[in-house]
Amino acid sequence: MSYQPDNIFAKILRGEIPNDTVYEDDEVLAFRDINAQAPVHVLVIPKGEYISLDDFTQGASAEVVGRFFQKVAEIARQLGVDGEGYRVIANTGHNGGQEVPHFHMHICAGRRLGRMIAQG
Ligand code: 5GP
Repeated sequence: MSYQPDNIFAKILRGEIPNDTVYEDDEVLAFRDINAQAPVHVLVIPKGEYISLDDFTQGASAEVVGRFFQKVAEIARQLGVDGEGYRVIANTGHNGGQEVPHFHMHICAGRRLGRMIAQG
């Protein structure tokens, strides 16, 4: 499957759809999830066209991948959730429950989160 430029996060990156940005630089955009599953629910996406974690880590340089993950942790600190803790999730592909085919990491925080994987 090739990258689909009409996906919702590509539209957000192009400014075609508004978003509640919490962090932005040349490589990364972080914004609040429209359907928050926790008091703090932020999505972090690379600006490059990558479908999934697999695509990103194979297609981007080690430097870009490294900086991305450093920024995920930096954004969590900026959100002030590092003290009490948080969860990062990268749903990948069909069984992973990925809905938007532009690589993203969820940062969820603000309450004690439940079991890692819902049963059923
Ligand atoms: P996935 O299931 O692909 O890991 O997660 C996609 C996430 O994107 C979901 O949590 C969903 O609520 C969020 N989302 C979908 N459309 C939009 C949108 O237009 N704006 C924002 N901010 N989040 C969105």
